[in-house]
Amino acid sequence: MKALVLKKRGVFELLETPIPEPEANEVSITVACCSVCRTDAKMWQSGHRDLVLPRIPGHEISGYVAGDPARPVSIWPGTACGTCRYCKGGRENLCPSMKILGFHRNGGFAEHVTVPRTSLFAVPQELPMPLAALAEPLACALHGLDQAAVDTGDRVLIYGAGTLGIFLALGAQARGASALIVDPCREKLEKSRVFCAHIGVPGIEDPREASGEFDAVINAASAPATLDGLLKIRSGGRFCLFSNLATLPESGSQLLAVLHYRELQLVGAYGCTRKAIESALDLLAVNRGELGFLIERIMSLEDVPAVMADVLGGEQFKYIIDFQNQT
Ligand SMILES: [Zn+2]
Ligand SMILES: [Zn+2]
Repeated sequence: MKALVLKKRGVFELLETPIPEPEANEVSITVACCSVCRTDAKMWQSGHRDLVLPRIPGHEISGYVAGDPARPVSIWPGTACGTCRYCKGGRENLCPSMKILGFHRNGGFAEHVTVPRTSLFAVPQELPMPLAALAEPLACALHGLDQAAVDTGDRVLIYGAGTLGIFLALGAQARGASALIVDPCREKLEKSRVFCAHIGVPGIEDPREASGEFDAVINAASAPATLDGLLKIRSGGRFCLFSNLATLPESGSQLLAVLHYRELQLVGAYGCTRKAIESALDLLAVNRGELGFLIERIMSLEDVPAVMADVLGGEQFKYIIDFQNQT
């Protein structure tokens, strides 16, 4: 099979490799689509806490069980133990023996991938496979909303108008909350204007324009200034650290004082649970007619190295490798 292997930082190699054999309780998946994540570009550039090289990256995957076109699936990219307190409590993304596709084990930048049986979720018939590959990033957003305990009637402020910011807004609206997106880049806001208007989410460039108090704030951007969102939360509200911050803002201690005096909750979100993948597939199916704008480009495996710098820049929506209809 064709596979794109990250040999070392900054170096991809397109190789012909044997099709991997599934181990016990695993299945072989013929990859239909694999979406390129900013995390893939970050680890291409500078590695990642969970990355072991050489590695076939790719964790946003849709495909067919054993190549059977009647069995389309999206994949939860984790391999968890199933027996620890986190796995048993429905927080399998925190399993201490977690192995993630594309990080600890080979992922979807290849024609075939092996995954645990427990990682498969049926794709609704009406959902195209490129969109089904976005179940994982949408699930991460839904998990972030869970962590921030976003519920009906909540006002939610979201930093970042990239794919994840849009997905957070979509998920928030779907549970009856009202979201507002802030992003300093006008062009970026413009790219999702039609969709955001469709789901009733305004977008602003300047956070000072976000008036009133919010029940929850979530950052889908790593700028230190996103932590200023703590100042916009009502007493007892929540801040979800969805993106890791590049550095801490100088005002860090003042911001923590707000946490203290107003009894705010600061929570983290990393990855997603299986349940979130299921919810994501439903939400994608409902909104499939409107989400095409998120697909910046459909491409072949050969095209991936050339777009890495672009993905890293974070100005574009999703690049998706499509293995279907290729010879
Ligand atoms: Zn991702
Ligand atoms: Zn576990």
